[in-house]
Amino acid sequence: MDHNLILVIGGGPAGLEAARGTGDLGYPTILVDKRDVFGGTPISAGYAALTPDMRSADEAMAEMIEAVLNHDEIDLRTGTEIIAVSGSAPELSVTLRGPKGEEQITISSAIIATGFQHFDPGRETQIYGYYEFDDVITLVDAEKMLKAGNFVRPSTGEPPKQVCFIQCVGSRDRQIGNFWCSKVCCGVATKEAIEIRDLVPDCRVFVFYIDMRMYGFWEDELYWKAQEEKKVNFIRGIVTEVTMRGDTVVVKGEDTTMGRPMEIAMDVVILSVGMEPSEGTIEMSKLFNIPLESHGFIATIGGALNTVTTSVPGIFVAGAAAGPADLEDSISMGGASAMKAAAFCRNKSKELAAAG
Ligand SMILES: Cc1cc2nc3c(=O)[nH]c(=O)nc-3n(C[C@H](O)[C@H](O)[C@H](O)COP(=O)(O)OP(=O)(O)OC[C@H]3O[C@@H](n4cnc5c(N)ncnc54)[C@H](O)[C@@H]3O)c2cc1C
Ligand code: SF4
Repeated sequence: MDHNLILVIGGGPAGLEAARGTGDLGYPTILVDKRDVFGGTPISAGYAALTPDMRSADEAMAEMIEAVLNHDEIDLRTGTEIIAVSGSAPELSVTLRGPKGEEQITISSAIIATGFQHFDPGRETQIYGYYEFDDVITLVDAEKMLKAGNFVRPSTGEPPKQVCFIQCVGSRDRQIGNFWCSKVCCGVATKEAIEIRDLVPDCRVFVFYIDMRMYGFWEDELYWKAQEEKKVNFIRGIVTEVTMRGDTVVVKGEDTTMGRPMEIAMDVVILSVGMEPSEGTIEMSKLFNIPLESHGFIATIGGALNTVTTSVPGIFVAGAAAGPADLEDSISMGGASAMKAAAFCRNKSKELAAAG
């Protein structure tokens, strides 16, 4: 028997690229997603425009989906989950549960691309009041309004006059045990700040940050643009409390550059929530018996030299399942994992042929 069939779990940017890669290399591939549509979090969370070039998320993901649709080597399954795994690669027995019931398949290699979930700011109710105050929203809530082209103060439906972003919500936070930087939220907040200034030109926009982490081209394409062209106000500060005074949200904290307390009334407060491993990522680590690294994402064994190989032979990981990742990281890892999975299958088939 040839060792050929590759299973890709998760049809977000990482999984779509992984499946396209294995398919293009000529390996029969099954791509499953538990949701009813592919495209991952950019689609399910309703992102508007993507950093840094403001391309429509719908359009970008449609292009990725198009590349796997009607591909001779790729079998697409939505609404499908993995419920059991036994054996070891290249002869792994996997049970899928989909719309047509359960099915058992034998695969030679798997790529886990089950992604991340947004931090739930309700876990820090004492600071941010996300579930208490209508005008405290998240980056994801803001994306939905920006996508509809109508950015308003949720409690009144009126255009806001003053909006702020609070960075690092659920990231870089020792108290809740999320030690990592989520990598994308500085860029995404800055992108949203630009979009708000474009949609509501009279609105003043503030970003409260510990330090702005804009890497690569995001520095000039987003951060400088936001400051210089769009007049967004970036304030180094620590927010300690978000409360209500009358019907206005008040942000309290310290301006750490000036070394003085701050208290500013806002029409809308946007929490820059970070990334945590998704439930599916944790489930896959259990089913495939792959250790998690110290932050709770799927552990890889090659450090910077190999970002996709896990300690379980034949099982690879791509995208935000392995840690905070932007689209470039996720798609690059998708391609790398495809190459590794194909090489694994090829080598196992050669060993089999040599053994006669
Ligand atoms: C608010 C916000 C805005 C962002 N905007 C940008 C941006 O503008 N530009 C940028 O570069 N990056 C952005 N990102 C980051 C970007 O969303 C991620 O880099 C990207 O989505 C990661 O892709 P992924 O495929 O690894 O995971 P995901 O997009 O999370 O996809 C994972 C897929 O796996 C599926 N899945 C999960 N569990 C299972 C299971 N058990 N079985 C089957 N399928 C499963 C899910 O349904 C999902 O389709 C943003 C992130 C945040 C938090
Ligand atoms: S990217 Fe920015 S907002 Fe997000 S965790 Fe890192 S420093 Fe904080």
